[in-house]
Amino acid sequence: MIHLPDTFPARSSALAPALAPAPAPAPTPAAPAEDAPQRYFVTSFGCQMNVYDGERMGEMLAAQGMQAAAQRQDADLVILNTCHIREKAVARVYSDIGRLRRDDGTTPMIAVAGCVAQAEGEEIARRAPSVDIVVGPQAYHRLPQLIEQARRNSSGGGKAAVDTDMPAITKFGSLPPRPRQPRPTAFLTVQEGCDKFCTYCVVPYTRGAELSRPFGELVDEAEALTDGGVKEITLLGQNVNAWTGEDGRGRSQGLEALIARLADISGLERIRYTTSHPNDMTDALIAAHAQIPKLMPYLHLPVQSGSDPILKAMNRSHSAASYLAIIAKVRSINPGIALSGDFIVGFPGETEADFRATLDIVRAANYAQAFSFKYSPRPGTPAADMEDQISPEIMDERLQRLQELLNQQQQAFNQTTVGKRTRVLLERPGRKPGQLVGKSPWLQSVHVIADGAKIGDLIDVDIVSAGPNSLAGEALAEVPALSKDEAN
Ligand code: SAM
Ligand code: SF4
Repeated sequence: MIHLPDTFPARSSALAPALAPAPAPAPTPAAPAEDAPQRYFVTSFGCQMNVYDGERMGEMLAAQGMQAAAQRQDADLVILNTCHIREKAVARVYSDIGRLRRDDGTTPMIAVAGCVAQAEGEEIARRAPSVDIVVGPQAYHRLPQLIEQARRNSSGGGKAAVDTDMPAITKFGSLPPRPRQPRPTAFLTVQEGCDKFCTYCVVPYTRGAELSRPFGELVDEAEALTDGGVKEITLLGQNVNAWTGEDGRGRSQGLEALIARLADISGLERIRYTTSHPNDMTDALIAAHAQIPKLMPYLHLPVQSGSDPILKAMNRSHSAASYLAIIAKVRSINPGIALSGDFIVGFPGETEADFRATLDIVRAANYAQAFSFKYSPRPGTPAADMEDQISPEIMDERLQRLQELLNQQQQAFNQTTVGKRTRVLLERPGRKPGQLVGKSPWLQSVHVIADGAKIGDLIDVDIVSAGPNSLAGEALAEVPALSKDEAN
């Protein structure tokens, strides 16, 4: 039986918050105590939103006078910014905590942040007593106070400082402004949380209700990023296309209006957004893919399964046919768009016929890229208690068949770009001397030797060969074909 909540749970953790719930004002740097940590290191697991959160935590600690350690061993404070979406992600955190013990038996101050912190709360410190701080994804603006509390606790031999509260105000207003970013691409979280309660997913419990950041705040942050040299911004949200806000004239707007406003920022060359839910894919947002040249021709639209009974059991509130109708609309507006998706195999009750329906929808949709996962029962979600859990062997076999098909499609899509001239935003050095790696408009990695070009440049490249996971292109000089390593 599927149990769905009648109402959305309050924005509070299942575990009682250990700190007072009232939101604290932005912390002001004070003279640090002598035994206060000086150097921090943040490791982010999981999704791009965690990467963004990890960056904001680091920026906040830097604003407090702490320094980023070049490597984890050098840090007095290590933050593990965790992901709870699948079981493996949780197991990795605990093994990582163990690895933080130094040769002399001591440990740095350890903070567990993110969705595992939210879901497990004080249990983490019980299971791993070396953990000093547990802080949920909506409370990390209070890290400076938690660090101070942990410092005092440890000198008194006390317990971890825990804050898994979900304050009514958003944390963003309490974070320091973003410093200059010496890099060409950046993430910008515009929306957090989820009200959709897919029966397999922890996000509504760990990230709370859907919340959109205000229009003006986002324009300011995008301008700050662009002023620092960022050329491409990816707008992030668990349901990014559910973003809504009031523009400068007080009119209620959807994501397309935010994208249109950001496209006016000179210096910002490319805009992307992820992850979208099919039900929030409005005609206006679809139209933006034809109307806004800076919006890249790439859409990540997870479907999870091609079987209607499974989609119903997942509480996805869309069908295979309605999903394909959205794709058809998107392609009628922009035929060249690269489509990406997420899939779960082995959801409870999934039969061979259900799984074949997933293969069918993959064939019908024709993906340029996709992410596929074995179903992972998440404690507290309705699907975890469903009958007919699928055996690991069947899941493995289905995942392999699905990935074979998806890989073929990705390779075929990559092949269609060979012989094309396209713009590449150079993002990092490659492995070979003089080689740079950038992204095509369709989010493919492109290896290129471009004499005189540098990271951050947008250059025209002729695509000369395609591997399963990346392309090779020619800019100013001859480019060697992909080596086996690069092609995989
Ligand atoms: N909001 C997006 C949507 O509606 O599809 C997805 C965001 S979710 C954080 C990212 C992906 O993780 C999902 O699309 C799903 O494929 C995968 N996922 C979530 N819960 C999972 C679970 N219990 N087991 C396996 N994969 C899961
Ligand atoms: Fe999770 Fe996405 Fe479903 Fe929300 S819509 S519950 S984030 S899979």
